[in-house]
Amino acid sequence: MTIKTNISCADDYDPQSLSVASALHTINANTKTVIATEQLPLKNALDRILAEDLISSINVPGYDNSAMDGYAIRYADLATHSNTSFAVIDTAFAGRPAEKSIHHRECIRIMTGAVMPEGADTVVMQEHVLKDGNTITIANDQHREAQNVRYAGEDIAIGDTILECGKKLTAADIGLAASLGIAQLKVYRRLKVCFFSTGDELRPVGSQLAKGEIYDSNRYTLYAMLKRLNIEVTDLGIVGDQPEALKAAFEEASLKHDVIITSGGVSVGEADYSKSVFEAVGDINFWKIAMKPGRPLAFGKIGDKLYFGLPGNPVSVMTTFYIFVQPALKKMNGENPQTIYKIKATTLNNLRKRPGRTEFQRGILSLSSDGDLQVSSTGAQGSGILSSVSKADCFIVLAEDTSKVSAGDTVTVIPFGGLI
Ligand code: AMP
Ligand code: MG
Repeated sequence: MTIKTNISCADDYDPQSLSVASALHTINANTKTVIATEQLPLKNALDRILAEDLISSINVPGYDNSAMDGYAIRYADLATHSNTSFAVIDTAFAGRPAEKSIHHRECIRIMTGAVMPEGADTVVMQEHVLKDGNTITIANDQHREAQNVRYAGEDIAIGDTILECGKKLTAADIGLAASLGIAQLKVYRRLKVCFFSTGDELRPVGSQLAKGEIYDSNRYTLYAMLKRLNIEVTDLGIVGDQPEALKAAFEEASLKHDVIITSGGVSVGEADYSKSVFEAVGDINFWKIAMKPGRPLAFGKIGDKLYFGLPGNPVSVMTTFYIFVQPALKKMNGENPQTIYKIKATTLNNLRKRPGRTEFQRGILSLSSDGDLQVSSTGAQGSGILSSVSKADCFIVLAEDTSKVSAGDTVTVIPFGGLI
């Protein structure tokens, strides 16, 4: 990893600052999947990442069966120009196949899911027959050969790849595995991520604030977003702006976790120690990223453990986590890369924007009366205004070279997608 230390956050626009894409590239190049796996009972595998391709060893359905309650017949027995009568010779239930096979002008009463009787190739719905004792009459119209029959393997055939390695397991996936009779799944072990907040001004919730103090909210947003990603989290609390305490926290954190996340202390203030202290224990990049919010970002490694030093401002924490940390954690977790849906919407507001940086403004999506997607701004966009994220359901992404956006213009939005 190359080491860069030239950071200044004093200017709003700095031609030397790194683009969002370059930072993402370096993070990706330094991130590997944690390869440890475990076997889990099906019910415990929800939201975990599958660690092998799942190949079917059976057909689903396992045999040809009826899709309707009705009568199984030979299609060739239906007369072309008149009604046809059939003798009902047996009954087939789901789980209880018929014992007889059918011959010319015979039929078997059949229920949904029952095995197709030998000799039969077609099922006529019970609503389409006239029944008189043990005889049914079927009109010659409306029918197709093989209608209402579900064939062996039409959902899944032996040898099909059902789920691919790297898939985050959904409710449907769990059901699909069950339909194949699979009781356990091989999944990646969950990533272990710890985090702490830095700052002498921070107090935990539930305590009294003295002058100049604030409640620590970053540990709560980080905890919640990590939980959403189904990650094993450890909250290491608040560490003050003291180099020794920070060094001890980094050393302890790196022993038991795959990733360390901190917030605060990565800027150029006199109490901003996170990056200089981390430098003593690991390798680090400091970046001034051409974005708002979230300009200063530290990214480093202690051995094979990753470190993300996020800015202190609450909106910056959530934005940098969303943009930079989330993809890295998913890759480490073994999850296949997903498309980030960037959608076009019409902005309902004029948006203030400085050229030279990508802005991630907070927006609220809605539909116009014509059903077109539109987005409104949450209002003030300061990096400390956490309520702007709470109100929002998407980022309005304004590209580096954009300078002014007027109401009615088309903008790009990234929906939060349940993470934030
Ligand atoms: P820093 O990057 O440490 O200079 O912090 C930037 C701003 O974010 C300051 O106003 C801090 O008080 C604030 N801040 C830092 N950490 C937190 C936190 N954990 N919760 C809420 N605000 C914070
Ligand atoms: Mg601070």
